[in-house]
This record gives sequence, C-alpha cells and structure tokens, in this order.
Amino acid sequence: MTPPVPKTTRAAVLREYGKPLSMEELPLPAELAPGSALVRLDRTTLCGTDAHLWRGGMPFVQLPIVLGHEMAGRVVALGAGADTDALGRPVATGTRLVWSEATCGRCHGCTVLREPVLCADRGYGFRQRADRSPFVTGGLAEYCYLPPGAGRLVIPDDLPDTWAAAAGCAGKTVVRAFDRAGGVPRGAVVVVQGAGPLGLFGTALARASGAGLVITIGGPSHRLALASRWGADVVISVDEVPEPGERVARVAALTGTRGADLVFDFAGGPTANYEGVLMCAQRGRYVVVGLAGADALAMPADVVMGRELQVLGSLNGDVSDLARSLRFLADGRDRFDWDAMFGAPVGLAGATAAFEDLTAIKAVIAPELG
Ligand SMILES: [Zn+2]
Ligand SMILES: [Zn+2]
Repeated sequence: MTPPVPKTTRAAVLREYGKPLSMEELPLPAELAPGSALVRLDRTTLCGTDAHLWRGGMPFVQLPIVLGHEMAGRVVALGAGADTDALGRPVATGTRLVWSEATCGRCHGCTVLREPVLCADRGYGFRQRADRSPFVTGGLAEYCYLPPGAGRLVIPDDLPDTWAAAAGCAGKTVVRAFDRAGGVPRGAVVVVQGAGPLGLFGTALARASGAGLVITIGGPSHRLALASRWGADVVISVDEVPEPGERVARVAALTGTRGADLVFDFAGGPTANYEGVLMCAQRGRYVVVGLAGADALAMPADVVMGRELQVLGSLNGDVSDLARSLRFLADGRDRFDWDAMFGAPVGLAGATAAFEDLTAIKAVIAPELG
C-alpha cells in the first residue's frame, strides 16, 4: 500500500538574515501541477551562496524562504506526465532524483540563445517565498516540490545521494566553466583560484582533463591539502602569500614567466579578477565564476588587450552540465576520494550551526536526522 501523500513538511525557514533558521511545519501544494513532483529529500549539501544569503549578502531576496539548492531525494508523488526524466528514463514513486532549475521555455535566453541558465524566469532556489504556493522548493526541508520544467535526472544506483546533491550546484558549475573555456588543451597550465568546493572540483577536473601543471590558490591549509591530493602540483596559500602581486609573481616563476593558459576564478572577492588576469599567458583564457563584489579592483583591460586574452563569464549550470558532472563524479571515484570534501551529516536543526561553522568544506544535511 502506498503511504498517503504528505500535506505539510518540516522545514528550516530563513525569516531574518543571520538569525537561527526557524523550524516550522510548512504547507505543500495541495495539487501537483502537470510535470511536477513531490520529493522526500535524502541529502542536501550547502553551497557558499546559501551561507552568503543567510548572512544577508543578498538583501534583494524576499523572506521568508527555505534555503538549499543542492539536494537529492526520492519521489513520493508525481504530477501528470512527469513519469520520465530529462533523458527519457522512467521515473516512479521511490525513484532517486537530482534536478536543475526550472526554465520557462519562452524567453529570449531559452528560445533564441537556447541557454537555460540565461532564462529570464529561471526557478532558482532563492526565488520561492515560503509563504506563497508552492512554498517549499528549497533543500532545507523534509519534503520539497519539484516544479514543472526542472531538468530531472535519475541518480545512478551506485552514486551516493551526497555526491549527487553536490553535483546540483557545485559540480555542474565547474563542469560548465570548463566547457565555457573550451576545455583543457593537453599539457596546459591551469590556475584555479579558490580551494572551496568549486576550486577543489575544478582542481580535480583540470587534472582529469590532461592539464600539464595545476596551480591551486586559496586556503585554509586543510583545503589546500585536499587540492594537492586531488591533483594540484602546486598550492599557493592566500594566508602565507597575502599580497596579490606576490601571488602573480609566484605563478610567473612557476611557468617560466609565461603565465597560465587557463585561469578559473572560483573564488570571487575584491582582488581575484585583477590578479587572475595578470596570471594569464598570452592568448590565455580567464573564466569568471566567483562574485567580485562592489569594492573589487578593476580587471586590467590593457592586459586583456595586450596579451589577447579571452575573458568569459560562466553562470551556474543547466541539466546538461548536471548530467556531465554526475558522470565526472562517477568516473573519478577511484582517483578522487570525493567523501573527503563532505562534513558528517546533521539534521535540519543543525543547518544554522553549519552556516556558522566553516570547518567542513561542504556541510551535509540529512533531514531524516531531525
Ligand atoms: Zn550554489
Ligand atoms: Zn526562459
């Protein structure tokens, strides 16, 4: 006998920036729209954007909301016509899913550019107020609503929930950034700015893609140690080398003054783009993924001109990037100990503490733990 479909869910709700999330029982949509689904969340991993938002770094976001946009869950109910995933594979009650943001399919980004990440009405996690239907599309809940138009993928049986969840933002963002860069030419010098989840996945992907020299810049030391394990030939600690100019000089020295063929900004921050461009070799590519912020040093455009650089932006990822990031995680499991990135799972009630405590490289929430 199928258990009854829940009408409400436990959720950790953000009502005031920087304050503890409030544990509440929120309504779930009474009717499931065609193409939608209701999912019981097995794992949610926290993204830097969630923490940034919680601290009040994105004050345009309307509260209350349920944070979390990296999650994996299993289907408890399906709307009409929602019985396959984005690749046509069957989806039924109990199927484990991961998904990308809903898109509208009728804007310039969707239709003319054919780029789901540029959709004018992209259903990104923090756009859903918790006091308006469908209430819960975020990951800090026991159940969540999966809107129509979200690119869903069945999680392969041998892929853990935690890895699949992390593919939902961090993984697909990195895969897309490499795609935007046009891939890694064999033997290329790659600089990765940042040693958080994006920088670490980026380090692994650079190594797996055939880079000749991988330099990862960031901190603190336990993250850099993991970067070394995942393929960085050299790590540069921003704590030990706090001067951007000195970091540029280090990269120059490591590359015989030539610089890097590819530099990925997975760090953001006020000096990242300035120093990142200076680290590029002639004809190098600089891929901007991090948020520089309002007080950022200007990118040196004369250097972009003089070295004939390409500067590319890369924004999150779509279902294609998600599919490829799941495959990368699966294919790389013997070479990279992905679990080393994740903290021990805690319940929803532990989410606030996870935002405050930055020890875990990626915090893991298991709603079943309370
Ligand atoms: Zn994210
Ligand atoms: Zn659109």
